[in-house]
Amino acid sequence: MSLAEKFHYSDFTRDNYRLLLRKAKENYVFRSYTDYRADERFVLWRHDVDLSVHAAYKLAVIEAEEGISSTYFLLPHCEFYNMLEAEVVGKVHDILALGHRIGLHFDNDFYRIKDVATLEGKLRFEADLLSSVFEAPVEVFSFHNPDAWMLQQRDATYAGLINTYAEYFQTSVGYCSDSNGYWRHRRLPEVLERAEDPCLQILTHPAWWVESPASPRDRVLKCVQGRAEQTMRKYDQGLELYGRSNVGEK
Ligand SMILES: [Zn+2]
Repeated sequence: MSLAEKFHYSDFTRDNYRLLLRKAKENYVFRSYTDYRADERFVLWRHDVDLSVHAAYKLAVIEAEEGISSTYFLLPHCEFYNMLEAEVVGKVHDILALGHRIGLHFDNDFYRIKDVATLEGKLRFEADLLSSVFEAPVEVFSFHNPDAWMLQQRDATYAGLINTYAEYFQTSVGYCSDSNGYWRHRRLPEVLERAEDPCLQILTHPAWWVESPASPRDRVLKCVQGRAEQTMRKYDQGLELYGRSNVGEK
């Protein structure tokens, strides 16, 4: 069996993403973290934006075309994009304008917090930052790469923010995630086809969903190279704009 077959590269195209949304719609009602009802067959569709807000925007467009809204969790400490740069802020505004919501993707590797009071202080600070930058409500958070301590924090809310890793979500709601660009546990197309879970929380990371099948590493490389090329373009254009010599330009 090839790697492409073993790791289902062809699952991760944007065309297939659209089909998965349609399949989900057949059996579940799309809800947000603030308006689901425990007695209905809801799906909470969440994106942890670890790698690319540009990739997130592409999925946001597909979802809007399919009449669906979801929640995009932004990572202030991201090493792949800068949440405060103009182009990224513009893309997030575009995502919001399509009817989607934003949440906070919280990186505790940055703080290494081990007590709830400090956790709540930093959650509140970062949620307020997001809310202020994007002029949108932030009512929910998810942990980025949660360690054992973070997974033990199972209260429904912290700092007034809904916890996507709360006890209820971990024990009473079916879960499927595309973490690392392959299916580590259940395969989403099968989960949606069988529709055996009474309700679902789906976690996707937009950069895994691309135009044509590729390995997870190549999908990450494409994000990084795309950003690098764009950064160099801006540098070159800036010098040209101000009539400066671009020393070393090829
Ligand atoms: Zn993450």
